[in-house]
Amino acid sequence: MSERKDFLRTIVEADLKSGKVKEVVTRFPPEPNGFPHIGHAKSIAINFGIARDYNGHCNLRMDDTNPTKEDTKYVQALKDAVEWLGFQYKGDIRYTSDYFDKIYEYAIELIKMGKAYVDSLPEDEIREYRGTVKEAGKRSKYADRTVEENLDLFERMKKGEFKDGEHILRAKIDMSAANMKMRDPLMYRIRHAEHFRAGNKWAVYPMYDFAHCLSDYIEGVSHSICTLEFENNRDIYNWVLETLKLTPPRPYQHEFARLGINYTVMSKRKLLELVEGGQVDGWDDPRLPTIAGYKRRGYTPESILAFCASVGIAKANSMVDVSQLEFCIRDDLNPKVPRVMCVLDPLKVTIVNYEGSEEIESSYYPHDVPKEGSRKLPFSKDICIERDDFMENPVKGYFRLTPEQSVRLKGAYIITCKEVIKDASGNVVEIKAEYSKESKSGSDTSGIKVKSAIHWVDANSAKEVEVRLYDRLYSVEAPEGVEDLNADSLKVIKTALIERAVIDEKPDERFQFERQGYFYTDPIDYTDTKPVFNKIVGLKGSWDKKSKKTEAAPKERVKKEQVDGDVVAMSQEQEALFTKYTKELKLNSEVANTLARDAQLSAFYEEALSLLDSPVSLANIITNEVARELKTMAVEELKFSVKQISELVKLIDDKTISNKIAKQVFEEMVKSGSNPKKIVQDKGLVQISDPEVIGAIIDEVMSKNPDNVEKFRAGNNKLLGFFVGQVLKATGGKANPQVVNQLVAQKLQ
Ligand code: ATP
Ligand code: MG
Repeated sequence: MSERKDFLRTIVEADLKSGKVKEVVTRFPPEPNGFPHIGHAKSIAINFGIARDYNGHCNLRMDDTNPTKEDTKYVQALKDAVEWLGFQYKGDIRYTSDYFDKIYEYAIELIKMGKAYVDSLPEDEIREYRGTVKEAGKRSKYADRTVEENLDLFERMKKGEFKDGEHILRAKIDMSAANMKMRDPLMYRIRHAEHFRAGNKWAVYPMYDFAHCLSDYIEGVSHSICTLEFENNRDIYNWVLETLKLTPPRPYQHEFARLGINYTVMSKRKLLELVEGGQVDGWDDPRLPTIAGYKRRGYTPESILAFCASVGIAKANSMVDVSQLEFCIRDDLNPKVPRVMCVLDPLKVTIVNYEGSEEIESSYYPHDVPKEGSRKLPFSKDICIERDDFMENPVKGYFRLTPEQSVRLKGAYIITCKEVIKDASGNVVEIKAEYSKESKSGSDTSGIKVKSAIHWVDANSAKEVEVRLYDRLYSVEAPEGVEDLNADSLKVIKTALIERAVIDEKPDERFQFERQGYFYTDPIDYTDTKPVFNKIVGLKGSWDKKSKKTEAAPKERVKKEQVDGDVVAMSQEQEALFTKYTKELKLNSEVANTLARDAQLSAFYEEALSLLDSPVSLANIITNEVARELKTMAVEELKFSVKQISELVKLIDDKTISNKIAKQVFEEMVKSGSNPKKIVQDKGLVQISDPEVIGAIIDEVMSKNPDNVEKFRAGNNKLLGFFVGQVLKATGGKANPQVVNQLVAQKLQ
């Protein structure tokens, strides 16, 4: 248990102390409609972790109330994930569908109490009648049906006498409730679909809000822990349990912040699109943030749990920098795994003055790793080094092999380049070198000074292996779609050379390839005749070097999140702002939370609001973009003004530019302090909405991808996203996404 208690554990302890709770029972309740991702790992760590810490237990429950999207292969993946992370659920896997009979009984009870009714309004009218945040809703005329009528209709809904959507069971609560969710929420809907477990027994399925609280109750759950987006559902949760006057003990709901990581997407729906669209190679593609993906890539359960712990449990959502996760796996592997040598892009070196061969005893572990074990490194006159460890015309500060500069072969001798052999087109194909007999590592009396040591392999005994180099799946921090995918997220090298011992002796499954990073024997494709290694992570945050700009901010954010691990209660003023933002201005609770807790941000926001009446769009830009800038500087130091932010939002609102382009404009404002309109004009960023222009681009994309057109027409709907992405890309993100979506769908028909 961490020394600093998080707010959930504080609640649990208080409940135990006051006697409100006798045994801590939690549950992890995924919907089996996709593979779990690292966000689920956080939820698993919290639910199972709390149960363990307080000698209680945690159930694994499939929330399978949606018959059309669920599948047993996802159940298996969820089970695997929990077990791989090292947790044990109590008893068998549970299913909400196991409780369908009981839940149905509870619905009947509510009807009999006059607390639920069958509504027959069409869907759009139900929506319309719900009202808005400012206006109360209107109750349906069907709400006056008698108990007998309701019972009869509900029974017939169950038997399948009606079509989907014809009737719906609603709780009778309050159509003018401030919490919109309480305006007669939907409890049961008609779905003529086969359920993967219940078969065709049911034509009605309970909605989340009805099924979840009752399933928790049935299982004797004490603390029902979920993510923040369910905050407003808590009122229904309580209403159902209280109205039914259930025998105690009953569960209580508590919310925590969702985990988000940059450079990736984190929703089963979006992940499913990538899998089905063929952008990745299955759910366990090592580039995906799925638990199966991390597992296959070579992450350890320990590193994932360490990451979840380092993120902490907070009440405010935030984006965690992916380098924090990468830090955790390096930190875990560094003291554990053997160091070996593998040359990814071999360049032949012939040591002309060496004769015969020898074997050099070499430890697998550096001095500071308290593990023992060594192997024999074969050495002869034929060796290979990394191509970029030699430069004929070196740049300044290059410390490796050049015609004038000797280098040490790690664990072996110092070599000096004597001749550079090239092919007809001028590529270096071989180095002829000489070694110094006295320079052997550990007994060097040569007196030669070198600036670095490079890795190498003995050409005659090395094994050829495949190495898969993974990089971030998306090239932008907050990806929006396929157009943001990193084209270089996978590089396959088929002709890497690795020292023999790795294959013959198999000292481990994970290795540090000297100077390259950490690697894992691919658990599926690796065979002794065709070994395959996955790159888990590089040795340092090489990505940070590539994009300097993102360096400062994410670290700040990480720190803040950790500090937020213990939630500080809001002051009265903050509470008041929060209420105003959520209730009056319709901001979602996380955005409202961020604003309300930060005086500087809320002041900025209020001023912007006085200039432009667009509460939601302003809040989005301010909590995302402006907030990031304010983490590293004071308001007075910003190059842009509140007024310019309101102008930027106006450009989005009147559809002159897309959200995506707005980000680009904002970056420019940060740098130059220019007016957003001017930036848009100067750079030609105006959104393209003209169907003719967009149509022409679509035609071009289609003609370039005839295969995908054919596949789409043969039924692969997922390719729609591909085409939309291509068109957006072709216009540099300037095309109006709605128009593109519509036209692409039309043209592909
Ligand atoms: P997704 O949007 O990825 O489909 P979900 O919330 O619909 O996720 P569920 O299968 O319903 O996924 O979630 C199971 C549990 O995991 C829930 O309690 C949910 O709150 C939690 N969970 C899901 N995503 C995250 C996340 N990113 N961070 C923390 N917990 C999460
Ligand atoms: Mg879901």
